[in-house]
Amino acid sequence: MTADVTIIGGGIVGLATAHALARQDPGCRITVLDKERHWGAHQTGHNSGVIHSGLYYPPGSAKARFARVGGEAMYRFCAEHGIPVRRTGKVVVATAEDQFGRLAELARRGRANGVGVSELDHARLREREPHVRGRRALLVPEAGITDFSAVCRKLAELLAERGADLRTGTELVGVHRDGADLVLSTTGGEIRTRRAVNCAGLHSDVVAELAGTRPPARILPFRGEYYETTSFRRDLVNALVYPVPDPAFPFLGVHLTRMVDGGLHVGPNAVPALAREGYGWTTWSPEHLRRLVRDPGLRALARKYWRTGAVEIARSALKPLFVRAAQQLLPELRGRDLLRAEAGVRAQAVTADGVLVDDFLVVEDEHWVHVLNAPSPAATASLLIGEDIAERIKTRR
Ligand SMILES: Cc1cc2nc3c(=O)[nH]c(=O)nc-3n(C[C@H](O)[C@H](O)[C@H](O)COP(=O)(O)OP(=O)(O)OC[C@H]3O[C@@H](n4cnc5c(N)ncnc54)[C@H](O)[C@@H]3O)c2cc1C
Repeated sequence: MTADVTIIGGGIVGLATAHALARQDPGCRITVLDKERHWGAHQTGHNSGVIHSGLYYPPGSAKARFARVGGEAMYRFCAEHGIPVRRTGKVVVATAEDQFGRLAELARRGRANGVGVSELDHARLREREPHVRGRRALLVPEAGITDFSAVCRKLAELLAERGADLRTGTELVGVHRDGADLVLSTTGGEIRTRRAVNCAGLHSDVVAELAGTRPPARILPFRGEYYETTSFRRDLVNALVYPVPDPAFPFLGVHLTRMVDGGLHVGPNAVPALAREGYGWTTWSPEHLRRLVRDPGLRALARKYWRTGAVEIARSALKPLFVRAAQQLLPELRGRDLLRAEAGVRAQAVTADGVLVDDFLVVEDEHWVHVLNAPSPAATASLLIGEDIAERIKTRR
């Protein structure tokens, strides 16, 4: 079996890359493989579904560039293909005076990134979200909500129509060179290919190593746990409500998300997972635990964030603490209103000296493009990231 380009990983970034390649170059023979039985089984199928606007990211970063334009592309794609989507807008809420400075900085960043942002005082916040407690807020009208799993299913359908070779249940386990080609060993046999793209998410550093590349950062999995409210408490929130994030940490804080199906999700927190696919505390891998203890970069990271980490772990273990955090924004919420929902695990890249990589990270060589850090808002921006990778591949064919 010979392909021009093989994509490892059928999450939203891998499928969007294949889609862009198929559109840019209809003659290109594309193979997409994923080790799971269905597309988008990991990060893409376990997230908040928010189409981000580009508010948070440092101006000039790839995240800032891709989020706003990518978000608009996502709205268009969903509308064109009948995927549920709503441009609900979101509010970022300061609950105390000491958050006003950070809120103003967010507004400045958002405007520098071309995002429409307006300030809401207490009264205008109450008009939008009557149950939310806050002193001041930012309104971001462009933010919205969709179902990224449905986007994946549609991308796979479009790829199948264009004749792409789509293989679920097929894991990449080895790579070697044969002349100008790569030979990929998979659990479904060998694939000969000219170029390959690594979109393996939580395993992207492992795939890079299989390909003979030394990744400049390794993946550290961070679990994000959610609760869902019972159906008769959904109406406590109309759209999307976020706290002011901690600028030292790349996650957005526990937020309130009215999902596209109407459900209200509270979360995610951010706790170190005990395995790459550690969706709960009982899933752990000895190899990953050894790495957590021995890796000097991770030890440096633990020293830096131990206080935040301890609070997050406590909130994960003790529901009343999680509820208390959510009550900062939504005082009427009670523990009995909340049921555990499925968690997600974020693939967060960390450098050897223990720095969390903030921006998207892509490394390329003659044969490969490796996507080594594609955290939020990569689902929002996936169609644009896919186009960018397809361009990189085209210049190498
Ligand atoms: C809790 C949480 C909330 C989030 N909220 C948002 C949000 O609201 N908005 C937003 O824009 N982003 C959000 N994100 C981020 C977003 O989900 C990710 O950025 C995006 O899904 C990354 O997609 P991906 O294709 O790179 O990775 P994935 O979806 O993880 O896909 C990688 C795929 O590679 C496959 N794979 C791995 N190794 C191999 C191998 N050896 N062989 C074959 N296949 C392999 C896996 O099975 C997997 O399907 C959130 C993430 C999490 C975890």
